[in-house]
Amino acid sequence: MSATIPSAPPPGAPAGPSRWLGLLLAVALVSGGVVYAVNERSEDAQARLVEAVVPASTPRSPSKAALAATARRVAIDTILIRRAQAVEKGNLALFLKDLDPSNTKLIAQQKILFANLVELGFTELGYSQAEERFDPAVVKARGRATYLVRILMRYQIPKVDEAPVTTELGYTFISRAGRWVLTDDDDLDKDLGPGAHREAWDLGRIEVLRGPRVLVVVEKGDHARGRKILAEAAEGLTEVRDYWPRRWRGSALIIALDDTDVRDARFADEDIESAASAGSTFSSLPGQDTADGTVAGAYIVLNPNQRDQVDEILLSHELTHVATADLGGYEPLWLAEGAAEYVSWSGIEAFAGPGEVTKWEQEVIDQAMPTLHALPTDAGFYESSADVYGVSWLAVRYLVQRIGLNAVEELYQDMAAHGINQVSRDRILLSRSGLTEVTLWTSLRTYRPRR
Ligand SMILES: [Zn+2]
Repeated sequence: MSATIPSAPPPGAPAGPSRWLGLLLAVALVSGGVVYAVNERSEDAQARLVEAVVPASTPRSPSKAALAATARRVAIDTILIRRAQAVEKGNLALFLKDLDPSNTKLIAQQKILFANLVELGFTELGYSQAEERFDPAVVKARGRATYLVRILMRYQIPKVDEAPVTTELGYTFISRAGRWVLTDDDDLDKDLGPGAHREAWDLGRIEVLRGPRVLVVVEKGDHARGRKILAEAAEGLTEVRDYWPRRWRGSALIIALDDTDVRDARFADEDIESAASAGSTFSSLPGQDTADGTVAGAYIVLNPNQRDQVDEILLSHELTHVATADLGGYEPLWLAEGAAEYVSWSGIEAFAGPGEVTKWEQEVIDQAMPTLHALPTDAGFYESSADVYGVSWLAVRYLVQRIGLNAVEELYQDMAAHGINQVSRDRILLSRSGLTEVTLWTSLRTYRPRR
C-alpha cells in the first residue's frame, strides 16, 4: 500500500504539523514494528518474537504462509538490529554483512552511509519494520521472493535532538538460497513522506563540524565553508538569545550540502529568493500515532547556491524557527515568520541603527499592506507573490508595541501548543492581546508608527 503525500512546505517554512493538516495519511499501520534497543541481543529478540507471534497456547497450528511470514519478520528484524549495532560499534563488515553481494552499487553507497552514520555519533539508533508495501514493478523486476517494507529509523544526535526522533526509509529484501538480503534502499522513496531518505547522511560523504551549540554538515573536505557557517551561526544564536525571550538552550543542526533537495527543502523548485529552510523533526511521524505527528525540533538546510552568502542575520531567522520548533508547531505562519523576521530585524537594528528598520516598516505599510485584504493565511503563504514576510513582521512588531515582547512570546507558546484551528487561534489571540486576527488586521491597516 502506498500513500500520496503532498509536496512539502517550501524552504523558509517551519514545517510543523499544521502544515501537514489535511494530509491524513491513508497508511494502515500494521503494528508489528518492534523497536529494539541497539544493544539488545538479536537471539533474545528472536526468541521473544516467535513467542509473541506463535504463542504456546495457540489452539490451531499456524498455516505455512503464516510461519513463513513470521520467519521473515524475525530474519529482517535480526538484520536491522545488526545494522544498528554495526554503527554503534563502528564495524563496517557487520554493516555490509546482509547486503545483496551482486549489487555492487548498493554496497558502495552503503559504505558511504556507514561512514556518515558513524561520523554523526548517534547516542541512539534503531530500525524497525513498519508495514509491508506492494509494488508490482518491484516484484516484476526482482522476482517473487521480494519483500518491500517501510522502515522507521529512530535516532538521536547528541545535543541536537532532545529526545529520539524518527525518519522513514523503504528497504527491498530478497531471499537468496533461503537467506534474506537487502538489495535496494530506494524502491519505496516516491511513496514515503516529504524528505524521506534525503537526510543529511543519505546523499554522499559528509563531514560534521562541531561548535558549542551548532553542528554543521558539509561535503567531506569542505571545512573552510563549514567553519564560516559555524561562526555565523554562533552569532545568530546570540541574536536569538538577545531578541527572543524564550530560554532555549539546545543546539542547531545546519546542513550545507551540494544537493538542492535535502530533507523537505527543495531549492531547485523554488525561486532563488529562498536561502535557507527550517524543517521539522518528529518524535512520532505524521500518520504514525496521530495524523499530525509530534514535532520534536527542526534542522536548518541551506540553499547550495547561496551557501556563501549566509550570514548571522539570515541564520538568526532560521534559528528562531529552531528555537521554537519544539513548542508544538500549531502557531499560524504569520506568527512564526513574523517572529523570525522580528529577531533578524532586531539584529539589523542593533547593528545599523533604527534608520533601516524605520524605512523598511514604512515600505511594508505603503507597498505590501495595500496588496492584501487580511493577515496572510497558512494556505498559500509560501506561494504568495505579496510580501507576506513583511506583513507578518509588521503584525508581530505591532503586537510587541501593544503588549510587550514577553507577552508576545507567551502568546507564541500558547499558539504553538493549542492553535489547532481558527477558533482556538482567535481565542488565544483575543485573551492575550485583546484582538482577533480580523481586528489585528484592521489595526494594522490604520497603524501609523510614531517617528
Ligand atoms: Zn522562516
